[in-house]
Amino acid sequence: MSASVALRLPSIDGLLRHPACLPLAERYGREALLASLRQLLDELRSSVVNGQLSAVEISPDVLAGRVGERLVQQQRSQVRRVFNLTGTVLHTNLGRALLPEEAIEAVQMAARYPLNLEFDLASGKRGDRDDLIEGLIRELTGAEAVTVVNNNAAAVLLTLNSLGARKEGIISRGELIEIGGAFRIPDIMARAGVRLHEVGTTNRTHARDYEAAISPRSGLIMRVHASNYSIEGFTARVATAELAELAHRHGLPLLEDLGSGSLLDLTRWGLPAEPTVRQALLDGADIVTFSGDKLLGGPQAGLIVGSKALIAKIKKNPLKRALRVDKLTLAALEAVLGLYRDPDRLAERLPSLRLLTRAQADIFAQASRLQPAMADVLGEVWRVAAVQSLGMIGSGSQPVARLPSAALCLRPQVSRRLLGRHLLNLEAALRALPIPVLGRIDDDALWLDLRQLDDEPAWLGQLPLLQVAQ
Ligand SMILES: *Cc1c(COP(=O)(O)O)cnc(C)c1O
Repeated sequence: MSASVALRLPSIDGLLRHPACLPLAERYGREALLASLRQLLDELRSSVVNGQLSAVEISPDVLAGRVGERLVQQQRSQVRRVFNLTGTVLHTNLGRALLPEEAIEAVQMAARYPLNLEFDLASGKRGDRDDLIEGLIRELTGAEAVTVVNNNAAAVLLTLNSLGARKEGIISRGELIEIGGAFRIPDIMARAGVRLHEVGTTNRTHARDYEAAISPRSGLIMRVHASNYSIEGFTARVATAELAELAHRHGLPLLEDLGSGSLLDLTRWGLPAEPTVRQALLDGADIVTFSGDKLLGGPQAGLIVGSKALIAKIKKNPLKRALRVDKLTLAALEAVLGLYRDPDRLAERLPSLRLLTRAQADIFAQASRLQPAMADVLGEVWRVAAVQSLGMIGSGSQPVARLPSAALCLRPQVSRRLLGRHLLNLEAALRALPIPVLGRIDDDALWLDLRQLDDEPAWLGQLPLLQVAQ
């Protein structure tokens, strides 16, 4: 290319009138086309100045093609459905619990029509959104009252601030936990205006440790479910009933952050035992907080249940207004709670429980059924086997418990040196499918845990599109 003939990008106006761009304007709108054209030309400008592009590369036809691809990408939604084959059922990064049909219908109704969100239909007067689920919560947990906020982190923050601001919160050193996403009990306490008074040691805390910490400065005693870790060996922890008795003797409320907070005893379905909300209240906790989208199997929410007087105090806190839930969440939550009234059919109707209780033999049969199709698509380089595997509940529930499951185990038949690259390439190819497939790499293989694969036709249908880089 001669230096005297400097290339120039076509003008925006010229491109807008170009025949290849007219259908794009028709399809995506003139504004969107204009914005994409501007972005593209801005990106190319310096390359053109530096002489890195040929005349063909900046011809109107080529640019129109590129802007067309860009518009397709930009129109595609960023919120995408995926296949969660990680083996972790309640995966925080993948949206945790899936809602039952009843809740999906309730959400649609709430989205489409006006509703009695804060309107008492009996009296015709202003109502309170918490009242919509209070009856169900009372029945299912034995609590006197409830208030609902955005998530359990908000529930803990609001409760601490309402009941303990400018006073001391007494908590065991074994319960000063961090939950993923920078939620740390000491930090939340500080933000809530509660002064942390830690007692005991990491592995052992006794009633006398709590007792010695109590003073006129004390505002509350807090207990936190250890959620995502477990302490084993030489350990001691004060039972909730004993701690409640101690707190009440000194006129202090006992808060219990249950994290997952199951409404029913999960051992009836063969799952690991989790403390129930009802039991925590029976044991004497004055306030119990838990998530809506962990073991409960509902929408993201934080439930605060307990005594009428304390809930009334929490509801008066101006922060409540900032942390409250929206109508879609409440509609879904009510529908999910409604299913709990019939525990005998809960495992059929609540997707999270249905998935958590799926039998290993059933999952293994599915893995065996899908193995040939997967092996076919991957070809010689990969060994594909249907194997037993171990999954987990996720979201801090039973961190050490494993769910017996089954998986497709994809193992590259290449030298050690090339193993890592092959695994990462396959992982990327699975992520690039129309419905991205997410598995996990472990022990030099890629594992697709099939516990949560219920849309088999969609999964099989897109397999031929898999393109693994070499
Ligand atoms: C998960 C968890 C939280 C946070 O709940 P979100 O609903 O994710 O905000 C708080 N405390 C405990 C003990 C938890 O397990």
